[in-house]
Amino acid sequence: MSLALAEPAASTSIALDVETVSHRYDVDGKDLQVLDDVSLSIAPGEFVALLGPSGCGKSTLLRLAAGLETPTTGSVREDGRPIAAPDPDRILVFQDPTLFPWRTVRGNIAIGLEARGLIREREYRIDEVLKLVKLEGFSDFYPHQLSGGMAQRAALARALVNDPKLLLLDEPFGKLDSLTRLRMQNELLDLWKSAGFTALLVTHDVEEALLLADRVIVLSDRPASIVAEVRVDQSHPRRRDDADLIALRRSLLEKLGISHDV
Ligand code: ADP
Ligand code: MG
Repeated sequence: MSLALAEPAASTSIALDVETVSHRYDVDGKDLQVLDDVSLSIAPGEFVALLGPSGCGKSTLLRLAAGLETPTTGSVREDGRPIAAPDPDRILVFQDPTLFPWRTVRGNIAIGLEARGLIREREYRIDEVLKLVKLEGFSDFYPHQLSGGMAQRAALARALVNDPKLLLLDEPFGKLDSLTRLRMQNELLDLWKSAGFTALLVTHDVEEALLLADRVIVLSDRPASIVAEVRVDQSHPRRRDDADLIALRRSLLEKLGISHDV
């Protein structure tokens, strides 16, 4: 008999399986089909980007993965188990940071831990994530005292303090100026590499998808179905002027129905 000397390390990521999912909304008694037979498997720790026309159903797909909705047909599973409700293991980050204006940065980040009764036990995590998103000096600032990039960093920290195993990002950098966006993309990559979560990023920025993701998935117009999938095998950091990435960008733009001279 041998003695187990160490507990197995808690897993930091999950597998996400979307299987033959179709989804409909009832809009004033009319049926609106948003997703059409979408199947997608994301491996633990993988970084997948979703591209698709506005209104095709990208946010809906993220909400299904977050457990905020259940699919009309088909299934969405984490590590094989159906996702039926929200869980701090799966966190959705929005385009708008949606910080509470009456709480400081620290107070905003603390919310998830407070709600789960873990604040005493894990308060140290707040300082850790503040450092991760480079806001150590700003913990007592209120949201109105932050730049757009800082507010989005605070929103990321608020997600990360829960140690999510799946991070769902809905156009998180869409409203940031281009320099801040580039910086935040690099920071997201660093966070993903160090924390090890599975990432599903919705973006309208083809270049962002190619710079960050292991795999890029293109959705059709609503009702969204998967029209293309490309694997990006390059290691990080990636160069946006890399010939392979430029070729991939061109082919993705074509798949999105945008001519390649843009
Ligand atoms: P995307 O994120 O790709 O822009 P969404 O998933 O937000 O698209 O929305 C897809 C379609 O579903 C849109 O036509 C939108 O108006 C509609 N929709 C989204 N959420 C709801 C809802 N809760 N009820 C009714 N219709 C919705
Ligand atoms: Mg959306």
